Amino acid sequence: MDAQNKIQNKYKDRIRELKAGLGSKLIILTHHYQNKEIVELGDYVGDSFGLARRAAADTSAEYIVFCGVHFMAESAAILARPGQSVQIPDVEAGCWMADMADPFIVERTWQELSDFFGPESMLPISYMNSEAEIKAFCGRNQGLICTSSNAAKAFSRALEQRERIFFLPDQYLGLNTADKLGIPREEIVVWDPGLPLGGNSSENLAKSRIVLWKGHCLVHTRFSQEQIEEVRKSRPGAKIVVHPECTPEVVALADAAGSTDFMIKYVENSSPGEEVVIGTEFNLIHRLQTQYRDRTILPLSRSICPNMAKIDLQKLCHTLESPGRTNVVTVDKDLKEQAKLALERMLALSS
Ligand code: SF4
Repeated sequence: MDAQNKIQNKYKDRIRELKAGLGSKLIILTHHYQNKEIVELGDYVGDSFGLARRAAADTSAEYIVFCGVHFMAESAAILARPGQSVQIPDVEAGCWMADMADPFIVERTWQELSDFFGPESMLPISYMNSEAEIKAFCGRNQGLICTSSNAAKAFSRALEQRERIFFLPDQYLGLNTADKLGIPREEIVVWDPGLPLGGNSSENLAKSRIVLWKGHCLVHTRFSQEQIEEVRKSRPGAKIVVHPECTPEVVALADAAGSTDFMIKYVENSSPGEEVVIGTEFNLIHRLQTQYRDRTILPLSRSICPNMAKIDLQKLCHTLESPGRTNVVTVDKDLKEQAKLALERMLALSS
């Protein structure tokens, strides 16, 4: 065993010891994009919203340690019950996409759009992958949050209430959702906050029903049409499934597109011997490869989120050494209440 492995094993032993000491007071949440070692030491693996809800529903957990990126730990802090603390092993584990929507600029854009379209014309919808301030912005403007699995439902519900949607921060999830609902491209604009009128003519803006913030995920936009064409040539029998944060061109060439849960079920429902090529973060694909050894699971290309990768055994161990004290994630009381409103509206979608 080399020196590096010995150190890693020491951390794993210490983490298990600390977990045993804290018992049911501690809950470790791990996102699907965490590496295998972290997931194996966690109590639950899932998507950001599912994990945050699970932690809040756990009546004995006082210390929630979220192995994921910062907006996810914030969501857990928004939903946390009084007396629960949320920690993240590395406060620098941010999200590029969430960072593309600066709350001050979003607020200024909202004002500009409200002046252009008139009051009560638009409803804001934010993807779960956003800061607490953006979630709160949606909450106080009658808007809601969505995930990649309920975005279409959120869009349909919003268009029953208002003429237009202001969706942020992921333009591609927005475009793919609008495509799914059959909304014509002439009724969709992308808003670049650095340009006058977001880079649109006033005629185009006036025709729009969907205004999309110009953000994207660098992990999912690395997938290309060429990669799909290559797989079609080299593995003609393979099915290709991608995440809706990919560009619409990539989604159009794939056999299916859907949320992380959708992709997991897609693999689950495939038959032994089948080939499935997946366009999403590599750590999830790697776990599926380990779980379904009787079929061939391949990445469309190896795309890793460097922010998720900032969480490692050493940092997790360090966090657990001081439960409720190191790297605690808090959300201002008013923001928390407003953000909760937007999250509750999302939950109401399933009723
Ligand atoms: S995969 Fe993309 S959206 Fe998810 S945390 Fe990483 S940068 Fe953010």
